[in-house]
Formats: sequence, structure tokens, C-alpha cells
Amino acid sequence: MEIIHTVSNMQKKADEIRRNNKTIGFVPTMGYLHKGHLSLIEKAKKIADFIVVSIFVNPTQFGPNEDLDKYPRNFERDEKLCRDAGADVIFYPKTEEIYPEPYFTFVEVTEITGSLCGLSRPEHFKGVTTIVNKLFNIVKPHKAVFGQKDFQQFQVIQKMTQDLNMDIEIIGAPIVREHDGLAMSSRNKYLSETERQNALVLNKSLTLAKDLLKIGKTESNFIKEKMTKLITSVPSQIDYVEIVNAKSLKPVDIVSDNTLFALAVKIGNTRLIDNLYIKQIDEEKTWQ
Ligand code: AMP
Repeated sequence: MEIIHTVSNMQKKADEIRRNNKTIGFVPTMGYLHKGHLSLIEKAKKIADFIVVSIFVNPTQFGPNEDLDKYPRNFERDEKLCRDAGADVIFYPKTEEIYPEPYFTFVEVTEITGSLCGLSRPEHFKGVTTIVNKLFNIVKPHKAVFGQKDFQQFQVIQKMTQDLNMDIEIIGAPIVREHDGLAMSSRNKYLSETERQNALVLNKSLTLAKDLLKIGKTESNFIKEKMTKLITSVPSQIDYVEIVNAKSLKPVDIVSDNTLFALAVKIGNTRLIDNLYIKQIDEEKTWQ
């Protein structure tokens, strides 16, 4: 496995792989890898010949009072995990390599970036689409794998590639959870033992929503009320609990096919997200 730090070396490597008629599979991450990230690498290996994992804590997707400075980092550990998972390259650039001064250019998807996480993180998706666009130009992948954990991000990136006619296949992978249901996240490291226990209400509230659907309760307001009650039974601060159409990300009054249950909740100082995607109302399906 090779570690590449510069844009030009990564582009040269990508050109070489493409010249040899191999397909490049790409997994962008911010590092501090866990089994969720590893599942994306595993998926990429099944559908592409040469796997590039990027590790870059992207400053443009963090708001002014967010956790950019304290975001967990451990490159040595990540390197070993990537090697064991069978990645071929880690692209690990410095911030100055990606955003040399002066930097003026951003990519923005409108409409579906204003709701859910976009409400409390107004610049977040602009930062995400900008970095993903840049990474696509640097890594030149045929296919890129993203987790359903960040459902809105997945939809935004898919829309960006469609709208900008980018010749890259965007592939989704299901949420990987801890044994007790907590969605894996690099930010789980911030949680104290008590907070870690309280954080289970996110997944529990999604399970509750699923159970309510099973007994025929499909009114969004009713389901949201029950979810909110469960979440606020522990010390927490709700950013949003929403039931939306999975494509438009606009709220729905009645749950039907293709619905997303999405939530963002602060436990202590840690903002966590989770979601449940219902493809068919009578049959819960995760993405494959
Ligand atoms: P991050 O390092 O948090 O920016 O995430 C990098 C990629 O890993 C994104 O596509 C995330 O959606 C995905 N990811 C993060 N956590 C999980 C998880 N628990 N299960 C599946 N994918 C995940």
C-alpha cells in the first residue's frame, strides 16, 4: 500500500492505473477509521480493481464553532486498518495542498442542502461538495462509495455528479452499528460512558418508528412526537427529528414508500446523526 501526499502524485498514479485499464474505487473519509469506513473499503474492493482511501479532515465543511480542531486523528492506526482492509493507496494531503492560498472556488448543490443538517450547518454541504469534487478530480475514480449513515450527503453528492455530468458511479453502503445499535462514528470517541449510554436513544427512536409503522401508524406528527419523547427521556438536545421524502428531503405528513427518518441530536457536546430509510412501507430495506 502506498501513501501519497501530493495532488500531482495522486493524479499521476490515477493516470497510470487508468492506462492499465483498471477501475479505480474511491472511499473518501476524514480518518479515525472504524468498521463503518472499513465496510466501504470492502464494498469498493468488490466493484473495482484499485482502491484509494482518502484521509482529509476538510476545514470547509466545519462551521466556526464546530469541532475542526479537536476532530480525532490517528494516522498510524488508520494506515494499519487500510493496509489490513486491502486498500492500494491512502491519499493523505495537508490542508495547504488542497486549499493553497488564495482559494476562491466552491461547488454548491441547492434545494436539498437547506433542510435537515443544512439548517443548523448552513455552509456544511458547500464544503462537502467542494472537497468531494476536488477529490474526484485528483483521484479520478470510476466508482466512489459513501455510507448511508450520512444519507443527505449521499443524496447531495449523487445530485452533484448527475447535474455536473461527472462520469463517476456513486454507490451507497448500509449503516454499520455497534453491538447495541449505536451507529459507528468517529465522533463517538467524544462521549463519556454515561453519554455513550444515553446516545442509544437515537437508534432506539428509529426502532420505535419502525414498530409504530408495523402496527399501522403512519402519521408523521404522531411518530415524531413519540420519537421526541423517547429522545428527551435522557439529557439531550434535539437538532432535528424529521420524516422526509428520501429524494426531495422535504417533510411528508404520512409515511409511504421511499421515506427517510432522520435525526440529529446533541448528547453532551457531541452532535450525533442517525437515520432509517424505508424503501417500501411494508418491508424495511436497507441499501445494497
Ligand atoms: P467520515 O469519515 O465521517 O467523513 O465518513 C466517511 C464515509 O464513511 C462517509 O461516506 C460516511 O457516510 C461513511 N460512514 C461513516 N460512518 C459510517 C457507518 N457507521 N456506517 C457506514 N458508513 C459510515
